[in-house]
Amino acid sequence: MGKEKTKIRLRGHHLFCSNVMDVDGDPIYSARFCANFRKYQQMMADPSQAIEVVCTCGDTCRYCPSWNEQDGKCRLYDYPPNANRIDLEMLEALSLSVGDEITSGELKQRIKGRFGTTLPAMCSWACGFESVLHCSQGQRKL
Ligand code: SF4
Ligand code: SF4
Repeated sequence: MGKEKTKIRLRGHHLFCSNVMDVDGDPIYSARFCANFRKYQQMMADPSQAIEVVCTCGDTCRYCPSWNEQDGKCRLYDYPPNANRIDLEMLEALSLSVGDEITSGELKQRIKGRFGTTLPAMCSWACGFESVLHCSQGQRKL
């Protein structure tokens, strides 16, 4: 029997970010955070890689200074006011819900179809990292 591939668990907005962020050179948080993030991006290079949508922190949040290991929530995005707004907006845009599964290949197609080469609104209201992560460039390469 073949070895089953590990499913990646991602929160809503990381479905987008993980497809466009360039974390080479460890530009944010810590080398450990970036190395972990790259590991999942490499797995997602396989279009058949399965991804499960989770409601709070997923695999790519590990080692972030805002990751609350006790309850699995993000100190920036998962508490009121605006708890989970960033994720819910992205899930709506991609026609996905918490608990859904999607392959990496299908996810890329949905991102291209929904956003084209224009960054989502969250990149302006919720995040200040575009200039160091070159997300716009990454989006054009999808
Ligand atoms: S800031 Fe929050 S959502 Fe972003 S990586 Fe850290 S824990 Fe995850
Ligand atoms: S700018 Fe921020 S929110 Fe937008 S894709 Fe990059 S990391 Fe994600």
